[in-house]
Amino acid sequence: MAFENLADRLQETFKKIRGKGKVSEADVKQMTREVRLALLEADVNFKVVKDFINRIKERAVGQEVLKSLTPGQQVIKVVQEELTTLMGGEQSKLHMSNKPPTVVMLVGLQGAGKTTTTGKLANYIRKQQNKKPLLAACDIYRPAAIKQLQTLGSQLDMPVFAMGDKESPVEIAKQAVAKAKEDHNDIVFIDTAGRLHVDDALMEELENIKEATQPDEIILVVDAMTGQDAVNVAESFNERLGLTGVVMTKLDGDTRGGAALSVKAVTGTPIKFVGMGEKLDALEPFHPERMASRILG
Ligand code: GDP
Repeated sequence: MAFENLADRLQETFKKIRGKGKVSEADVKQMTREVRLALLEADVNFKVVKDFINRIKERAVGQEVLKSLTPGQQVIKVVQEELTTLMGGEQSKLHMSNKPPTVVMLVGLQGAGKTTTTGKLANYIRKQQNKKPLLAACDIYRPAAIKQLQTLGSQLDMPVFAMGDKESPVEIAKQAVAKAKEDHNDIVFIDTAGRLHVDDALMEELENIKEATQPDEIILVVDAMTGQDAVNVAESFNERLGLTGVVMTKLDGDTRGGAALSVKAVTGTPIKFVGMGEKLDALEPFHPERMASRILG
């Protein structure tokens, strides 16, 4: 389960403070020490933890807690609010262009779940918003990538635009958008190539696709299980492309949660969706507040 270890640790800590009718500075110190350790063990970015703890300390010894009738609960509420803020505060939705087709470019490293997420997102948008998606196969390097997207397309009964592996990805992306206009598709999902590592050639290609298609969304797909590596990947992609959102995949297998808790604070880019399994309906909109409640129990 997502965040399981972190949730266990924090719930243990808050058991001790919840019922307290008086919260001393020593109590706050003890609590923040335990929260700090739990976050570091969950692989949350060091600087993010430091800032987070400072904010909690500041608020937990302040008037809103001291004047409260239930200071123990008030301290926990402070942590919950700060956790929510850390993960982006409000839910961040997919931005739809008022001039269709909306263009969504999906980027990420190989194996992160990009192609699967392309199918999941298209499925979600069709179901929830009654939109007509087109999928565009722009990963011409990984031999099975085009086929994989076409298989997804037929499972979902959704059109896939492909031109084989001889045309340039920029040309394929451009023509996919033109095709979507022609066929009155509301939204185009561009599945781009991944690499094992961030490299310059990949970034240049993605910049060119961005230039040619002027996407409304540039979504990075990252694997939650890779922890702080995922956050570093997000920083690199954001610097070059200016991301508009993140889909954090494989949260179903991530018991720590460090990447999910750090990525917004480090890159300024919100998580819009999370992947919760391999199936095509295993995608959920990311609600920071609900997630914080889930973690704190
Ligand atoms: P790509 O190389 O980034 O396009 O990655 P793929 O879409 O081919 O996905 C790589 C693997 O991750 C596949 O086996 C997917 O089924 C799996 N996968 C993708 N998203 C999730 C998820 O949210 N949870 C789990 N458990 N597996 C996922």
